[in-house]
Formats: sequence, C-alpha cells, structure tokens
Amino acid sequence: MALIKDILRTMDYGPSPEGSEHVRVWLKEHEGGFGHFINGAFTKPGDLFDVFNPATGERIARATQGSPADIDAAVASARKAQAKWAALSGFERSKNLYALARHVQKRERFLSVLETIDNGKPIRESRDIDIPLVARHFYHHAGWASLIDSEFPGTKPVGVCGQIIPWNFPLLMLAWKIAPALAGGNTVVLKPAEYTPLTALAFAAMCVEARLPAGVVNIVTGDGATGAALVAHGGVDKIAFTGSTEVGRAIRKATAGTGKKLSVELGGKSPFVVFEDADLDSAVEGAVDAIWFNQGQVCCAGSRLLVAEGVAEALYAKLRARMANLRVGDPLDKSTDVGAIVAPAQLERIQRLIGEGEKEGLEFWRADDLLPDRGCFYPPTLVTGVEPASVLAREEIFGPVLVATTFRTPDEAVALANNTRYGLAASVWTENISRALEAAARIKAGVVWINSTNMFDAASGFGGYRESGFGREGGREGLTEYRIADEPKRKPNSAKPAPLSASPGLVPAGEIEHGYLDRTAKLYIGGKQARPDSGYSYAVVDPAGREVGLAGLGNRKDVRNAVEAAAKASSWGAATAHNRAQVLYYVAENLSARADEFARRLSAMTGASARAAEAEVEASVRRAFFYAGFADKFDGAVHATRSRFVTLAMNEPWGVMGVVCPNEAPLLAFVSLVMPAIAMGNCVVAIPSANHPLSATDFYSVLDTSDVPAGVVNIVTGEANALAKTLAEHDGVDALWYLGDAAGAAQVEALSAGNLKATWASGSALDWPKAEGREFLRRATQVKNIWTPYGE
Ligand code: ADP
Repeated sequence: MALIKDILRTMDYGPSPEGSEHVRVWLKEHEGGFGHFINGAFTKPGDLFDVFNPATGERIARATQGSPADIDAAVASARKAQAKWAALSGFERSKNLYALARHVQKRERFLSVLETIDNGKPIRESRDIDIPLVARHFYHHAGWASLIDSEFPGTKPVGVCGQIIPWNFPLLMLAWKIAPALAGGNTVVLKPAEYTPLTALAFAAMCVEARLPAGVVNIVTGDGATGAALVAHGGVDKIAFTGSTEVGRAIRKATAGTGKKLSVELGGKSPFVVFEDADLDSAVEGAVDAIWFNQGQVCCAGSRLLVAEGVAEALYAKLRARMANLRVGDPLDKSTDVGAIVAPAQLERIQRLIGEGEKEGLEFWRADDLLPDRGCFYPPTLVTGVEPASVLAREEIFGPVLVATTFRTPDEAVALANNTRYGLAASVWTENISRALEAAARIKAGVVWINSTNMFDAASGFGGYRESGFGREGGREGLTEYRIADEPKRKPNSAKPAPLSASPGLVPAGEIEHGYLDRTAKLYIGGKQARPDSGYSYAVVDPAGREVGLAGLGNRKDVRNAVEAAAKASSWGAATAHNRAQVLYYVAENLSARADEFARRLSAMTGASARAAEAEVEASVRRAFFYAGFADKFDGAVHATRSRFVTLAMNEPWGVMGVVCPNEAPLLAFVSLVMPAIAMGNCVVAIPSANHPLSATDFYSVLDTSDVPAGVVNIVTGEANALAKTLAEHDGVDALWYLGDAAGAAQVEALSAGNLKATWASGSALDWPKAEGREFLRRATQVKNIWTPYGE
C-alpha cells in the first residue's frame, strides 16, 4: 500500500471508480437483447447486433437491427399518436415534458454510468455535463410546450419527425431532438447510433414510467441502413439529422423534392484563436475543454489552434505541461480526464489521418503516458507547425488531436479561421473586448465562444454555417424547425415557363444591336448592364404571342459572373442597418415615381388590366417600404443561458443569395423576394420571371438611381430552371430561394447538397399580395450565438 508521504510527494491520484453495479444488473436483465420501442412498448428482439464497452472491448448488450418493416411500424405509431398529441393543450404537453425531465434527474447516476460504459466518455463528463444538460433540455422545452401557441402564432406542428443521431453525446443528442419536437406538438421516430443505443433504450423505458402517451416517442435501433429507411419513408414529414457531412449530403439528396422539412448539424473543424494579449493559462484550460473533452469526438471541438506568433512557443510549453497531467484511462474512474475512443473503426480513422500528417513531416507531441493495455484509446496529441493546406488542418479528425498554426495579425487570424468549408463553432481568446467581438463578428460560425469554449445551454441555438449544416437546435430558433405555417394547402405555381430556347425570337446579339436596340434588355451584373455570354436574346411575348421586347439569354457563365460580383459586394452586409434602410427607401421612392411606366410594362407583358397592373406596382412600392422599415428592426436576442454569460443571438446575412422568381406576379414577386434579402445584408443574384422578365430589367435603372451599391443586386434573365441549376451547384452561393415548379424545386434541393447551402425551394404559389413579414427575414438570415463571459 502506498504510504501517505509517497502520495503527498507524487500527488498521484489513486483509483476512484464510480459504482456500476446497478447498470450491470440492468444489462443482465436484458441479456437476451433489446427490441425497439414502438407504440409505447418494447418489441421482441429481432436480428441482433453487438454493443461494446469501448474501454474494455467487452460486449455489454445486443440490440435489434431495425428493418424497413420496423420503421414502417414506428412511423405508423407516430402518425397515429400525432393528432392526439397535437390536440392536447400546451399545458398537458408541458406536464409530460416536465415529467420526463424529472425522471432523467431522478436517474442521473444510472444514466451517467450507462452512457460512460456504452460510449467510453469519462464519468466526470457524463455526470457533470451530458446528463444535467439532458434534464435542462426537457425542462426548457416543457416551458415552450405551454408557450407555443402564444409565441408561435400562425404555425402548427410539422407532424411526424424522423430523427437520426450520432454516438458522441448519445442521450444529449436525443434530448436535443426529442424535447423541441414534442414541445412543438410533433411525434418522433428516433434512431440512435449503432455504437451507442443503450441510453436511448433506457430513456424509452422512462417514457413508459412517465406515462407519455403511446406512440409519441418511438425508438428504432440499427445502423445506417435503418437510418436510410427512416429518411426514405413516405410517412415522415421532417428529418432532423446530426452526424457526418458525408451522410448529411446523402440525406439532403434523398429528401430532395419530397416536401420533407430538413435540418442537419454536421461536421466541423473549429478554430480556437489565441491572440497575443490572451490570458494564456486560461487559454490552456480552454484548449483542454475544447479538444480533449470527450476525446475530441465533438463536432464543435476546437481542433485548430490558431495562435499569435509572439506567444506561440509560450503557449505550446504550457500546453505540453498541462497535457502531461491529463489522465487517460478507465472512463468510470472519477479522476480520468480522457476516456476511450468509441470504436476500433474510429481509432483506425484517427491513426490513418495522423499517418498522413506524419508523411508531411509535421511535429507531434504526446505526453509520455502509458495507455491502458486493452480497449480503444488514443493519447492527447499536439501537432505544431501545421500549414493551412495540411490534411490535418482541413479534415475533421474527431479525436484528441490539436493542430496548431501561427498568425501575425488579427486579419490573418480571421482569414485562417474562415479558411475551412465548415462553420460550426469558434473560440476566441483575448483580454481586449473589442478585438474579441470583432473576431466573433467576422468568423463564419454558428457559435462563437469568447474566452470560453464548448458552452451549451437549452436556451441557446446551436448549429452550423456553411458545410456544418443548417437549422438550429435549442432556444427559440431551434423550435422554428418544428413548426410550419398554419395555412391552407397552396396551389402549385400555375404559369408554365415557355421553352425559351425554342422561342421564335431567339436572335443573335449582333442583329439586336441594329434592329431592336432600344427594346433589348441586357443582364445586370456588378452594377452594370452586361451582354449575355451566349450572345443571344429571347423574345418576350404577350399572352397573344406578340413580341413585346427582348431579354438576354443568360447561361452558366453569366450566373458565375453574377455570383462573383455579389461576393465582391459583401461590405453591404457590414453597412449599418440604417444605411440599408435608406437605400431601400430610395428604391421604393424611385419605383413609385415611375409607377405608370411600370404598370404599362406589366400590362403589355402579361395582358393584365391597367387596374390590376397598377395594383401590382402599388403593392410592390408598399413592399419595398415595408422592408426598408424592417431593415433595422429584425433584432436578435440575448438568451438566458448560464450565469455570468451574455449569449447574443445575432441575425446575420447568409452572404450571397440566389433568388429564383416565379413566373407569376413578375414585379411584385421580384420585389417581395429581393427586398427582404438585401434588407438583411445579403447580396443577391436574382433570376426574374422567365416569361415576363422586363419588369425586373426595367428595375436596373431604379437600382442605379437609388444608390444600391454595385453587385448588391445582380439580375440574370433566361430559363429559370437552367439558371437555378447553376446557382444550386455553385459553392459561392450560400443560400438559395427557388419559387418555381415542383421539378425545379426538387432539382435545387438535390444539387444544393454540394456545399449544403440552405434552400427554400417550393413549387407552390404564394399569395403575393400578402407575402411579406418576419418569415422572409428569418429565411434571409442565419443565427450566430456569441457567448460573452463577464466578471473577473
Ligand atoms: P459518424 O461519422 O459520426 O459516425 P455518421 O454520419 O456515420 O456519423 O452517423 C450518424 C448517424 O447517422 C448514425 O446514427 C448512423 O447510423 C446514421 N447513418 C449512417 N448512414 C446513414 C444513411 N445513409 N442514412 C441515414 N442515416 C445514416
């Protein structure tokens, strides 16, 4: 036995294992295998797969591989339960969620131990972070359940939600999915990850104890094939997914054109930025939480350390000293800092990526600590001298590996931080508040933590920019994913676009110069009129087939030029909202001054009566005024999260938006879509009504005379679906609105999977005279949550 004086000399921790007997008993009771949880009861175990404890390699349970028939049964159960669940009062739903929160709390120890045995994460984390946050999530959403009618007027539940979650925070991800869905009046079919199904199954048992109505929560276990069957199921109204970007892309494609609502939270390669004036000791503790929390198997892990050159060596030295004190080992030991990697396949992936880094000759540092001789472990690792192009700086490692790069100026720090296709989170360390906030504003990420990292709370939204996904989980912004407009079913857009290439008026541009000069509209790119790349224009005809003018036949190249021009105009997003409002007011005023001319053009093009055309122009003027008025009023929020934190939820523009207008209401639809987008600070590439483009092309001069900066609005005329295709495929487009036909909407959703741009694609007709309001502004923005600590 160690003598006290030896212990005091080395200060080594003795073993301090958490008791796991109660969990082992429970696992023993289910030795025969777990079934699914469908319609309030467990099914008989079916085709079983093994579940392992990654820290020991021992098999701890067997669960059923969900078949398409199981998914069918679960979806049917959720469907049957949904109407009744939605018809309960908010108060009743709230009581149910409250009961779930209480049951989680009562079983915190059981759930923490089970999570640790199943996933390999240190008990300290499951006990102090995961499970308390699960309870917090159900409490928070118990509140929303009773507030939903008053706080989300004009909306209704989406219906049956298919939810697919990963293995890194098994029960927490379940809570993030199920709590808001239920609060919003939806029912769910949830598929946990195949490595870690056990806490979901324990939760299912708690649903019975808490007397949740049967069918409201259904849990089907299985691997990716089970997930794919859930995604493909025709009875599901919404898919919510958290996992890899690769699978997120596959799900985006699989749901394209199905009308399913979709939110995806995907991978990351989040920057951890340490400025010269940072408190280095705090930054070191932050780095421990950023990358060695949960063995670095965290989608928002601060895995890229960007450090000011002047303090880099000092920081590395402190980091190495701290790493030497991290205890890697038995996750059930209360003094363990770093537990097991979830599965051998993940360990191999980490080793493979590190192998690639080694080939690049990078510098690796690991504490020379012995790893346990069994189980799946990887030591905390620091890699320095990493170039931005290195595979380790680009690929998500999903392991305890921190890769470090230095910078010289704050601008370079921001550029490096944004030099990734992801945008989930960022952490910024400096004692200078204005530098911190400036970096937070400029870094493209859904969450930014100032002098802190990996802070989560149910009241704050969480989710990505760019290829880290779209949609938020948590807080008010998360709930919007689980509600849809309560309105009668809309008709499909009626006007069929004419096949422009077959149009009799297809005229080489050269001839146009001679014959039709004054009637030929060009494209509008970067604040200038531009000839179409094709050199062709097409005839715009009235309903009687008479030619009323010519419009440029835009193609891929024109769209690309327009996207480039829009990207160059990005300072528009940084202009004050007041400035943007002013410009929108000029637009409205100048349109109003030319109302007669616009009305005549509309009549000539569409055959509308003079009165109807005047009404459309009048409505367009009002709409422009409306969004001018709203430009500086679509406020963010301060979320009530953790003590001593101000959590700012900021509505930020997407950046470059594609806007594809329907054939109908050629002026009003154009104004109704473009104005909210630019009011929020986006730069737009607009494709106007293909059959009636001349109202939009007349609009150039309104834009010119209204001080709209060059590139903020670009207009490319031509075949809407062909141009929409280029926009959907373009990685420089951050969000895309498409209001055309059903086939075009499906195309846009499928092709946008490339950079996972957010889409609003619909083949349904909007009621244009009424189509205005906050919903358009919400769709024109993404929420960034900035966590700012205070206090010494
Ligand atoms: P990770 O790389 O973190 O394991 P995955 O994206 O592979 O992430 O897995 C996350 C979740 O998605 C798991 O529940 C997994 O079973 C599920 N999944 C994997 N492939 C598919 C698929 N093609 N369709 C639907 N779900 C899938």
